Amino acid sequence: MSQSDSQGTPQCVSCGIQVSGMNAARFSCPDCGATIYRCSKCRKQSNLYECHDCGFRGP
Ligand SMILES: [Zn+2]
Ligand SMILES: [Zn+2]
Repeated sequence: MSQSDSQGTPQCVSCGIQVSGMNAARFSCPDCGATIYRCSKCRKQSNLYECHDCGFRGP
């Protein structure tokens, strides 16, 4: 409600599904600090994530 998140709808960075309402992992890009979401399914599969802002890839 009062969240000033300018990202709009959070999406899993790996598979692209909307993660709002899911217990998705949320963390910051170690390179640029952008907020990254990953759904529980992708987290289980240990999919790589890729930052939309800087292109950083990590486990
Ligand atoms: Zn996913
Ligand atoms: Zn980044």
